[in-house]
Amino acid sequence: MRPSRRIRGIVTGEDDGWSVHYRAEAMRRAGEPVIALTVGDHDVKTDASILDAMKASMDAGNLGYAAVSGAPGLREAIAARATRRAKTPAGPENVVVTPGGQYALYSSCLAAMEPGQSCIVLDPHYATYEQTMRAASIEPIKVVCAAADGFQPDVERIAAALRPDTGAILINSPNNPTGAVYRRDRLDALAGLCRERGLWLLSDEVYDTQVWEGEHISARDLPGMAERAMVIGSLSKSHAMTGCRMGWVLAPAEVQKRLADLLNVTNYGLPGFIQDAAEFAIREARAAEAAVVERYRRRRGAALRALGNGPGFRLVPPQGGMYVMLDIRETGLSGVDFACRLLAEERVAVMPGESFGEACAGHLRIALTAPEDRLTEALGRISRFAGRLA
Ligand code: PMP
Repeated sequence: MRPSRRIRGIVTGEDDGWSVHYRAEAMRRAGEPVIALTVGDHDVKTDASILDAMKASMDAGNLGYAAVSGAPGLREAIAARATRRAKTPAGPENVVVTPGGQYALYSSCLAAMEPGQSCIVLDPHYATYEQTMRAASIEPIKVVCAAADGFQPDVERIAAALRPDTGAILINSPNNPTGAVYRRDRLDALAGLCRERGLWLLSDEVYDTQVWEGEHISARDLPGMAERAMVIGSLSKSHAMTGCRMGWVLAPAEVQKRLADLLNVTNYGLPGFIQDAAEFAIREARAAEAAVVERYRRRRGAALRALGNGPGFRLVPPQGGMYVMLDIRETGLSGVDFACRLLAEERVAVMPGESFGEACAGHLRIALTAPEDRLTEALGRISRFAGRLA
């Protein structure tokens, strides 16, 4: 007996792109002093006030089954936050709460497309995108966003890649891994393409609070798009709540209803105490949210100061998000080879650009997830190592 083709087909190939990270973890477990800047998880934990709200909810006995698509108050809070941050009003009828942005991605793929359809995914992209689509029996079509174009979406290339069976375009701004914040002209053109060709726009906006240059434009705010956009949101990045698995989809009401049906038969809702903590986080913990943003703003500044442009590398200043990209093509090494040698020789772990697609081959993604002194130490080691190679 074998598992189904669908489930076998989620992960293709041998290397899932995380080998440097796994190796760094093994070294750390063996007691080696590795500075790990691989994953996008916070080093500073969820704010105490949010944890207090969670505990209070548990103590109040909120431990049974909870509202499957999200408690009305929580959906109201998410909708109000979206309305505050954008121009197109949203209501609770547009919100479905999901276990993390990851499930929001998967469920919006299921909601937008039939099995066997294809979806445009921009390269480079967050590590799970293609696998998420394959899990939904949807074929990803990759379209490169060139480094020379600031990793912005190239709408002509996207239009040329569309097939008759294409049902949606998935975008992510601020972008992981590149830090690109998509410009209004590109987004307007993308929206035009979606309207003209009858496509959904799936927009992963989990980094929407971390914008350092330019402005974040939500997909629902693009002309005529509130009816054909599904926005993926999460408290993982904005509130340092990765472990709470608290995400959502903002979608037209008809889609929201169907997503609620899906949640009923897949995960049956988030724990009530997590939902209560999330509602508190959104409504009351504005200072904690701002502190997360300020932390990454400071670290980004420190990284730009520590790195500059040295021999062997060129910094790609991030416009948003919690990562910095380095172009190390001048060293003649691939991102994978550079990252492997950096780990072995300097005890610093970063992600090779190749893990996110071909468009950032010869780049490194550095997560700003360490206190400033350790970050500066790691960046010093990286720039000296690149200098030696050059
Ligand atoms: N989208 C992007 C672009 C991400 O970087 C991540 C997490 N690294 C997610 C979605 C998923 O986050 P979560 O499921 O924790 O909300």
